[in-house]
Amino acid sequence: MAKKIVVLGSLNVDSIMKMPRMPLVGETMALTDVATAPGGKGANQAVAAARQGAQVDFIGAVGQDANGTFMRQTLQDNGVDVSAVTVNPQVPTGSAYIMLQANGANTILIHGGANQALTLADLDEAIIAQADTLIAQFEVPLDVITAAFKLAKTHDVQTVLNPAPAVYDITPTLASLTDIILPNETEAQLLTGIPVTNDEAVLNQVSDALLAMGIPRSIITLGDAGAFIADGDQRWWAQPKKVAAVDTTAAGDTFIGTLANELAPDMHNLAQAVDRASTASAIAVTRHGAIPSIPTRDEVDQF
Ligand code: ATP
Repeated sequence: MAKKIVVLGSLNVDSIMKMPRMPLVGETMALTDVATAPGGKGANQAVAAARQGAQVDFIGAVGQDANGTFMRQTLQDNGVDVSAVTVNPQVPTGSAYIMLQANGANTILIHGGANQALTLADLDEAIIAQADTLIAQFEVPLDVITAAFKLAKTHDVQTVLNPAPAVYDITPTLASLTDIILPNETEAQLLTGIPVTNDEAVLNQVSDALLAMGIPRSIITLGDAGAFIADGDQRWWAQPKKVAAVDTTAAGDTFIGTLANELAPDMHNLAQAVDRASTASAIAVTRHGAIPSIPTRDEVDQF
């Protein structure tokens, strides 16, 4: 039977601007290419879970504009239910402007738009109540995330927190409502104040700090070094799958969406879920783009 996942998160339209280098102040420079793509961590994670076979509902907001229509359609095309996506006529749909230099370095500007205008009134308790798992990131307001996690716990729904980008501190209330947290290296450092490296002693210290906040499980994702998992006092590495990476965009989101689907409904199979999430994200880095790079269940099975 399909797992039921609710994603509370962001919907952005990405403008990808390719340029030889960053322009200087006052300079006018021609782009070498420009493209538009669906994005936002929420959207990517929802699609990742849906491609693993989950029944996914999205809670979020778009503006009453063409970008909003595009994002709702993108979710629907991927089998994600958008009946809890609010159309807010006061603000534009969220957007991201990705400045990609010829050397591969990128700089990103974000306008939260409708994502940041989300309020408690946009939370649909009935949708959260029927789910196995609720996933949230930090691209929507913290009070809305906290309220959604409270509703989830009232209804015995698992909670998966991706504190990305690390713009908020984890409050004691939010920590007490979180079943598993998945920061990447940078986010783990910002949240704990510990300079994160791939050294196991350091990673144990970071895991201890997250545990001390009251979160029972954590996964620190470390790019091509894999991931470090803590389930209470049990610690282990998930070695990365060996692939030829061409674009790591949405690697973390693919990992989280896949993991959430595998872990539902009761988180008993963390090691197995991490292995599958590592495979899905390894496949994603062998392809270009965000949503187009996310693999299906069959592709992960066949890897
Ligand atoms: P993004 O913001 O690009 O979505 P992230 O920083 O949130 O990524 P990462 O830690 O870079 O997430 O990657 C998540 C997971 O993806 C890693 O734990 C690993 O399993 C897998 N992964 C990332 N890069 C590679 C790679 N080059 N080869 C194999 N697996 C990779």
